Amino acid sequence: MRDGDLVGLARSLGIPGLVDIHVHFLPDPVQRKVWQYFDDAERNYGRAWPIHYRLPVPERVELLRSFGVVAFAPLVYPHKPGMAAWLTDWVADFAATVPEAVPTATLYPEPGVVSYLDAAVRAGARCVKAHVQVGAYDPRDALLDPAWGLLAEAGVPVVVHCGHGPLPGEHTGLPVFEEVLRRHPALTAVLAHAGMPELSLALDLLDRHPRVHLDTTMVGVPFTTDIAPLPADWTRRLADVADRVVLGTDFPSIPYAYAEQVDAIAGWAEDPALGEPFLRAVLHDNGARLLRVS
Ligand SMILES: [Zn+2]
Repeated sequence: MRDGDLVGLARSLGIPGLVDIHVHFLPDPVQRKVWQYFDDAERNYGRAWPIHYRLPVPERVELLRSFGVVAFAPLVYPHKPGMAAWLTDWVADFAATVPEAVPTATLYPEPGVVSYLDAAVRAGARCVKAHVQVGAYDPRDALLDPAWGLLAEAGVPVVVHCGHGPLPGEHTGLPVFEEVLRRHPALTAVLAHAGMPELSLALDLLDRHPRVHLDTTMVGVPFTTDIAPLPADWTRRLADVADRVVLGTDFPSIPYAYAEQVDAIAGWAEDPALGEPFLRAVLHDNGARLLRVS
């Protein structure tokens, strides 16, 4: 499958297009730094990571449209205190200019987190990103406790990068985040990268917590099959949680074409237990429901 085939795929499935819950748009200086980090990926991650879509913002938006993406969550995330409110303001402005972009927000354990998050949710933020690995914070931090509570109450999903991939962090690991889930059972958490590399543990979390979802970002693509191979019972277990699996891609900072992610998901759907209903749910319906896209 190539990027040019995606619109036809959506049409053949009878869905309006793709809904992607895990896309990144960042202010230019921040985006440049992120890409510099990936340019050094051999040193940072032990393998090259050539960015496939290193393009100016308007061209990236146009590309998503050309893939048939009808809605997406542009995710921002801080790596230090004092950044989250500014990034949240920036992404609100960005979403106001791009009809397909759903307003989002981010957070960091710092004084004031509840107030800027509350303001963002009141202003219409429909998805939040929490990056435990890059932010290097403990999701159980007392400063975050009311923030998780606020999101649970508002029914706003939070895409959480809390797995050990691509590198373990001080506070990564699904068991750590599960403590947050125990305190906030109503929280709609979307495990980014399906908790990679702990894919089976992520599915265990979905079994135990009915509000927990997973996104497909980088899961099952050739680039990650060696570091995070799919468990043998992957598709069988997905069948039990098919309404809680959501398309995510990490566009634009991926070292391969966008269609490779959709191709991987289409491969899982070849299991008769999944089939086209699963594909429609993952590529469109589940994300549309979470992001409240009509
Ligand atoms: Zn990401």
